Parts: sequence; structure tokens; C-alpha cells
Amino acid sequence: RHRLATLPLENSFGSLLPAFHTRLLPTQLPAPYLVAASDAAADLIGLDPGEFATEQFIEAFAGNRTLAQSQPLAAVYSGHQFGVWAGQLGDGRAILLGDVPAVQGRMELQLKGSGKTPYSRMGDGRAVLRSSIREFLCSEAMAALGIPTSRALCVTGSDMLVMRETPETAAVATRMAPSFVRFGSFEHWFYNDCQVELKVLADYIIDRFYPELRAESNPYRALLTQVTRRTAELIAQWQAVGFMHGVMNTDNMSILGLTIDYGPFGFMEAFDFRHICNHSDTQGRYAYHMQPSIGQWNCFALGQALLPLIGEVEDAQAALEIYKPAYEAKFDQLLHAKLGLHSTQPEDGKLHEAVFDLMQQNHVDFTLFFRRLGGLQVDRPEGDEPLHDLFIDRPAFDAWAAQYRSRLKQENSIDAQRQETMNSVNPKYVLRNYLAQIAIEKAQNKDFSEVDKLLRLLERPFDEQPENERYAQLPPDWASGLEVSCSS
Ligand code: AMP
Ligand code: MG
Ligand code: MG
Repeated sequence: RHRLATLPLENSFGSLLPAFHTRLLPTQLPAPYLVAASDAAADLIGLDPGEFATEQFIEAFAGNRTLAQSQPLAAVYSGHQFGVWAGQLGDGRAILLGDVPAVQGRMELQLKGSGKTPYSRMGDGRAVLRSSIREFLCSEAMAALGIPTSRALCVTGSDMLVMRETPETAAVATRMAPSFVRFGSFEHWFYNDCQVELKVLADYIIDRFYPELRAESNPYRALLTQVTRRTAELIAQWQAVGFMHGVMNTDNMSILGLTIDYGPFGFMEAFDFRHICNHSDTQGRYAYHMQPSIGQWNCFALGQALLPLIGEVEDAQAALEIYKPAYEAKFDQLLHAKLGLHSTQPEDGKLHEAVFDLMQQNHVDFTLFFRRLGGLQVDRPEGDEPLHDLFIDRPAFDAWAAQYRSRLKQENSIDAQRQETMNSVNPKYVLRNYLAQIAIEKAQNKDFSEVDKLLRLLERPFDEQPENERYAQLPPDWASGLEVSCSS
């Protein structure tokens, strides 16, 4: 284990061309306090959670004291927002501290909400407590769900007010990922016609994160293929757990295929494939059912940006062709597991479609439905009560369940075994908006216990936690009034 004071910190991204970043110190956060910290995230970088409550830790991750060896910087990137080229966007409120050894490879440490940078445009460089807690909890929850994501080490808060729709207190979230380079980091150099920088950045990413691609005849084309594949598989994982990102702009798409930049995200509750989790997304560009095709659109934007390196348009197009089959293969595999099937049959596609039609028509709670489905017994339809309870149109459920049962019988499925494997892929606990909201309101009154409680709950999303049964229930009526929007 490392002590914070002797963390073997390097500035790998910072040693690239100066054009990629501006070195600067975070802005002081007045009288910071610790809001939350993740033992699991600390473990990843060998940091002792015993240091969390220390002044040194809080000051470092509030941005008030520079870690030894750290040369903080803000990176530059651009991007397409809501389908439109938006030019330069960031890092408007993030500051990279450097990278440290991790369980696998290295992890960059980045402060979010740590003050203005040269790329802040009209923004104040800050983040509010509410959005920092949401990012913190969701990062750790997604990791526990087995979905590629940036991690969150901690959140520090302050009584300093920042203006949003109403005044709110400021906070700083510390995020970790092997790299925060985005599709928009490449688009930035493409649209500014800077081929040298474009190549330096691509070479950096290949050498550091995709070294096996050096052996390919066209490593840049191979990079596009790999990133496209990872993105397709990531989005299949989102769809399979009902996660909606909310702002799939190209500047929020990780070059490593990680979920990054948690803002107005949501988990599907009453199923509606058109559900829009981001209140500012009036057109529904980033609705649940749009995510797979938007992911592909974003890969095309990356392909455009890499074109000067790849060479031929045909080569870029060929690389992008992997998207659809990679998405479908991953999604089918995940849905198969969600249904507890182990063999594959030609008719399975219809069963998959039928389950989504059923969820759509009855607006059943996504998480509860799949979790309870694990409790179905092949020969005991009279035991379907908990499932039935989720449906308005019970005969429709019965009809689907009859199909499902005969499919299970075909492969001699054993109830107890199937339930165990289904419970290992269908979470019992997800970060429902209303759960986050309760924790946030307590935290706004300086009671951080519920943030910690949710962190521990969501670290074991697949486990039955009888003492926490109330966290697995349908959202209360007031939850339907909750709205979350971009950049807070
Ligand atoms: P988002 O859609 O939340 O990823 O935001 C897009 C970009 O706007 C980010 O990359 C930031 O650089 C910038 N931004 C968002 N909020 C702020 C803020 N409060 N101050 C400065 N820049 C911001
Ligand atoms: Mg962003
Ligand atoms: Mg953001």
C-alpha cells in the first residue's frame, strides 16, 4: 500500500506535446470536507482508506494542495453536441493530477469541479454537490455491475455557493481511469487541421492502451475497429441493464470504451423504450432506444477524425462495419443470460423481442422484472405471483411465460441453478434517481451517511441483502417529478 504523500505519481499525458493541455493549479476550495470516498477505488491504486479522513487527503482532493510530483493540467478537446459540431469544449472544469500504478496498468487521477481552465468558456469551472454525488455513486455502481467505467475515489465538498437554477454548494469529485481521452480529443485536431497532433495522440493511445495493434498493417484502422467494437459492446451492456447515459456527445465517449462523464444519467424503471432521462434532451436524441445507433454515429465521427491517419475512406468504413455485429452479438449474449438460457435456438430472437414488447406494453419496472423472473419455477405457474404483480395485462404475461417455460423445458433447465445464474446477471439494486435524491438531500444538510449507505449497497448489486429490501422496491410517486439535466 502507498501513502498519499509517496504515491508514485507520473505525468504521462502531460509529457505529450504542450498543445494537448495547459498546466495550471486547481482553484482553492474554501474549507473543504469529505463527503464520500470509495474503499474499492482506493484499493485499485493501493491507497490506504485509513487516510480518507485526514486533512492531507481532503486538501489534496479538494484541489488545495498539490500531490508530490504532480503537474496538474487541463486537456483540450472538442466534440459534437446533440449531433452538431460544437468546437472546443473542455476540459472546462476538470484537472488531471497525473497517473499512478493500479492493479492493472496505471490510473489517471482527475479532479472534476476544481475551477476554471482556459477551456471553461462561459462556465464557472465548478460542479455542485448534487451532480458530484451522482457521478461518484454511479461510477462505483457501474463498476460493481461489471460495466466498463471510470471510477470515483472521493467527493469533497464546501459551503461555497455556486449559481445554478438556484444557489447550490460546490463539490469536487476525484475520478480515475487509465485515460480520459475522448473521441472529441481526436476530433479537435482533425477539425483544426493539425495532422501532427492527431498522429501523436493516436500513437500515444495505441502504444499505451492498444499495443497489440502495432503489428497490424494499418494500426490506425485497427484502432478504429477496436474502439468501435468496445463502444458497441459497452452500449449493449448499458441496454441490458437499462442504463441511459443522457448526453452521448462525442466529447463524452471514451477512447477506451468506458462509461465516462456521468451527468443526467438514469436507470430504466417503468419500461418505455423511448424514455429520455435528460430533461434538456427535448428531441429524445439520447433516449434509451437511440443509444445503440447514437453509439454508432459517434464511432463514425471518430472515423472521420482518424481518416487522415487511416488513409482510404473504404478502410475507415470497413473498420466501422464491426459495430452492428459486435453490438448484436453482445446484446444477444447478455439477454440470453438475463433469461437464464444456456443453449441457443433459432427461435430465441423472437423470445427476446417478445420480452421487450411485454415490458413495453405493461411499463414494468426493468430491474424488478428481470430479478423476479429468476424466481420463476418451470412447473409452478401458480407461483408467479411476484411477477404477476408487476403487470397490468396479466394474460399477456401468462402467454409470454408459457412460451418461456416451454423454452426452459427444452433445455431441461433446473429452477435453483437457473435462479442462481440469473441473479448473478440481473441486479437487485441499481442507482434509482429517487435513491440518489434522498442521499443528496441529506448530504445537502451535512449528513453524508446515506451516500455511504448507497455506496455499500451498490457495491453488491447482485446479492440478496434482506436488511436492504426497501432499496429494491418500486420508486415512490414523487420520483416521477425528478428532473436531471446537463452540466451541473
Ligand atoms: P457535458 O455535456 O456535461 O459533458 O459538458 C460539456 C463541456 O462543457 C464539458 O466538457 C466541460 O468542459 C464544459 N462544462 C460543463 N460545465 C461546466 C462548468 N460549470 N464550467 C466550465 N465548463 C463546464
Ligand atoms: Mg463531458
Ligand atoms: Mg460533464
